[in-house]
Amino acid sequence: MNYQQILDTIYEEMSYRDVSGKVASYIPELARVDRKKFGMHVYCGDQENFSFGDSDECFSIQSISKVFTLAMAMRLMGEDLWDRLNVEPSGDPFNSLTQLEYENGVPRNPFINAGALVLSDILVDQLKDPKRELLDFVHKITGDTSIKYDETVAQSEKSTGYRNIALVNYIKALGNIKCDVEPIVDFYFHQCSLSMSCAQLSKAFMIFANKGRVLETGEKILKPKTVKRINALMQTCGFYDEAGEFSFQVGLPGKSGVGGGIVAIHPDNYSVAVWSPILNEKGNSELGMKALERLTTLTGVSVF
Ligand code: GLU
Repeated sequence: MNYQQILDTIYEEMSYRDVSGKVASYIPELARVDRKKFGMHVYCGDQENFSFGDSDECFSIQSISKVFTLAMAMRLMGEDLWDRLNVEPSGDPFNSLTQLEYENGVPRNPFINAGALVLSDILVDQLKDPKRELLDFVHKITGDTSIKYDETVAQSEKSTGYRNIALVNYIKALGNIKCDVEPIVDFYFHQCSLSMSCAQLSKAFMIFANKGRVLETGEKILKPKTVKRINALMQTCGFYDEAGEFSFQVGLPGKSGVGGGIVAIHPDNYSVAVWSPILNEKGNSELGMKALERLTTLTGVSVF
């Protein structure tokens, strides 16, 4: 497959597309990003990777980090995790509080904010230094120790994070949060502030395309069964209340974030990351979704 030629075609096609959406602004720091940024990186291995545009520039990965914290929580808790979290698409916005009321504080899935905050509670409860351990996890799966949190973004989110703070308080009132609210949201705002490029993200997500092993070193990070579950959740719940549309258009498991990044994987084949900060109404990168639709159409390969 000539991925570079396909990426070049996508870059050219996207350059004359109208983009109508907006950059996320409810986190003040994200509103400052240049809306013209656009990059994409396909990773098949260290010697075999393909890219265009701003693929080496770091951006705020936001909710994409929820896949990393899910992987860490599954390693710690195994199947017991599913007593605290459900595995169904929510069909509601990512920061919604309403379902929690009638579902007794058990979030619909680990990728809506309520679910990710329960994951934060678990990691804060069980790990000595969760922020350090998350960084160690990301460094190990990428082999890249330059990846770090963006303190400015973390503080910016903290200053306006009323909904997330409300979510933790509410879930705690319903009995599904153990720790104090402050360390949970502090960890959560930091995980969302992780700053990574498309090149780094696509390498990190290769473990989900390679049955839980780091491709370059062969090191086993996750059990194949854990990877199966995480990929299933990415397929059904990875794109807010647009998971059906993403599956329909692209046909790969993946995860998006309000920083405009999307990562998707083709099991046993490749991992791909794309970044354009302009979001559609559902909070997914507008160009990113179109670029990935073109990737699976032009290659003729998806998981379906
Ligand atoms: N930090 C963001 C929030 O909690 C993450 C949202 C996202 O990327 O979906 O609102």
